[in-house]
Amino acid sequence: MNPITETTDLSPLRAEFAGSLHTAADPDWDEARSAWNLAVDQHPAVVAIPEDAADVARAVRFARDRGLRVAAQGTGHNAAAHGDLDGAMLIKTERMREVRIEPATRTARVGAGVTWGEVVGPAAEHGLAALAGSSHDVGVVGYTLGGGVSWLARKHGLAADRVTAIELVSAHGDLREVTALTDPDLFWALRGGGGNFGVVTAIEFSLLPITELYAGALFFPYERAGEVLEAWRRWTASVPDEVTSVGRLVQIPPIPDVPEFLRGRSFAVIEAAYLGNEEQAGDLLAPLRELGPKMDTFATIAPPELLALHMDPPGPVPGMGDHQMLADLDAESLDRLVAAVGPGADSPLLSFEFRHLGGALGRRGEGSGALGALDGRFMTFAVGMLMDPAIVPALEAAFTASRNALDIVDTGGAYGNFAESPVDPEAIYGDRTLRRLREVRANVDPDGLFLANHSIDEG
Ligand SMILES: Cc1cc2nc3c(=O)[nH]c(=O)nc-3n(C[C@H](O)[C@H](O)[C@H](O)COP(=O)(O)OP(=O)(O)OC[C@H]3O[C@@H](n4cnc5c(N)ncnc54)[C@H](O)[C@@H]3O)c2cc1C
Repeated sequence: MNPITETTDLSPLRAEFAGSLHTAADPDWDEARSAWNLAVDQHPAVVAIPEDAADVARAVRFARDRGLRVAAQGTGHNAAAHGDLDGAMLIKTERMREVRIEPATRTARVGAGVTWGEVVGPAAEHGLAALAGSSHDVGVVGYTLGGGVSWLARKHGLAADRVTAIELVSAHGDLREVTALTDPDLFWALRGGGGNFGVVTAIEFSLLPITELYAGALFFPYERAGEVLEAWRRWTASVPDEVTSVGRLVQIPPIPDVPEFLRGRSFAVIEAAYLGNEEQAGDLLAPLRELGPKMDTFATIAPPELLALHMDPPGPVPGMGDHQMLADLDAESLDRLVAAVGPGADSPLLSFEFRHLGGALGRRGEGSGALGALDGRFMTFAVGMLMDPAIVPALEAAFTASRNALDIVDTGGAYGNFAESPVDPEAIYGDRTLRRLREVRANVDPDGLFLANHSIDEG
């Protein structure tokens, strides 16, 4: 592929494009090329911000005809894995915000720029819930194409496996509705295989008839991290699939964006969502409550309130993350982890979390997509804020320390949505699935037009 040059004439595209086109020559270039992760410095040749699916098709055809590669982003939450996008056209779908809830069929159909915060409220008005991510401003499309691990995941599996249709612009520049009936292979590949196959313009998925659940967090003094996380680890072995939980260490910066009771404080935290009522939850949570949390926020809530449970940032931030997939978590590995990045370690991490997997997340259902399941009982996500680039070496050292601590239980696998740097695609998919994904890509995108955050290409 030939990268665009400064003299590439965008005027044929401008003449038919309803959205906006941006290049380095424009005064708003820095804003146009920015991602949700403000630490990512992406330098595509051109940024196209389409108004609708027809615009996406125009942009893809223009890029293809001029030998430009094409990358799509909804929000840029996972832009760090994408690299600098040198010479590519970046299609940002942020203006494609249509949300349609169909109560009769219990489905939602949303545009490619829609974030979870825009779906869960309208769905709840009809007594329905989506397998949304933990954060209100994560993009539905990027999250779902990468798998999608929600607060209901151990009971209901990956969000990708609730997809019923995907509208996309193919490498030929035509708009297609992809379903299990129209294109079974492509439909399989898209559900977990990410942005390797086209630019998605809309996605349709089924919703669940859930109106309330019992969820919240227990906050413990940071110094008790070892004891608290060990109790949580043991507890996860006994909980039903109706419980999805996280055990984590948080060190919250003293910034105005966070609620006052958390500002500048550190905690060991257990967060959980339970598909059941308060009475049943009482017995279930008893072993954790017996530890004597300083704060207990558990309550009966409506599904949209789950977006506040994980205390994710309210908007774009500069961040750097790391992730491991764990076969299991034994007491010694946990001890080592707490020693490496917990109290007394002077860790620069804002958060280190273990997400409990298993249940439906570990079972590949019939008709599931390319990811289908996560092969591990836990996964981790470590994140630090990059307010000052001088912190990078300390964050890298913390990532190395946590990797070393969990070395014995690390499967070597990865969950693409949590992998914030390029990873070997075999770690995400395994050998057999990767081969099948490559076959699908060779059929639908033989010239390698599309550039995904986690490329499945060889080499
Ligand atoms: C604060 C925070 C909370 C998170 N919580 C969760 C969570 O609870 N569960 C979970 O599973 N993950 C979670 N994630 C990870 C998140 O799912 C990934 O970052 C995901 O890639 C975000 O999708 P996006 O569209 O917002 O980001 P983007 O960076 O815009 O997209 C990611 C990738 O998806 C593909 N893509 C996006 N849009 C399109 C399109 N229209 N057509 C084709 N390909 C496209 C592209 O390859 C792109 O590089 C979280 C991340 C953060 C930063």
